[in-house]
Amino acid sequence: MINPKNVKRIARIREEENSAFRAFLKEDANQELFDKKVNLLHRELFANYDCSKCRNCCKEFYGSIPVEDIEQDAKYLKMVAEEFKRKFLQQDENEEGFSTRHKPCDFLQPDGNCLLGECRPRSCKEYPHTDKPGRIESLLSMLENAEICPVVYEIIERLKQDPDYEAFDKKYVEKFRKMMRQW
Ligand code: SF4
Ligand code: SF4
Repeated sequence: MINPKNVKRIARIREEENSAFRAFLKEDANQELFDKKVNLLHRELFANYDCSKCRNCCKEFYGSIPVEDIEQDAKYLKMVAEEFKRKFLQQDENEEGFSTRHKPCDFLQPDGNCLLGECRPRSCKEYPHTDKPGRIESLLSMLENAEICPVVYEIIERLKQDPDYEAFDKKYVEKFRKMMRQW
């Protein structure tokens, strides 16, 4: 697996190829089969990966705390809700929820654990969402996440080698490049 420190740089080198792969999948891939493949890779790769050695997702994003989590999170940290908000949170621009004051997320601990433990937000528990259905529609965000998450990066690299997608090759990348120039 790629070193988390290098994932952004290497994924950016592959940006054009990955965009071409996205166009190829949108044209060609069966959605159900694609979801199955991504889900399988997700389970296989995360089963053998220690996220506490990476935590790029906690470093690259502000923590997003839903309003309904605030009471339980404050209680977990033995605080009252107002104190918890004052210490850790700021209101989102759309005023629908809260995010942490800083990036990396304020709850990220030096050992790679989350201060909120099992109370951490559902969106954090479910990131990078590669075990969810509808991956063809979410390909753009999957490619964005490939610049953050080593597992997503690896999933995409393995999919490019999948025999079912062997029609994706250098010629397709060239075709995609020409198409982009015409736009
Ligand atoms: S989910 Fe991805 S980005 Fe987050 S810690 Fe695990 S491997 Fe790293
Ligand atoms: S709340 Fe916890 S899991 Fe979520 S981004 Fe912050 S440190 Fe990471």
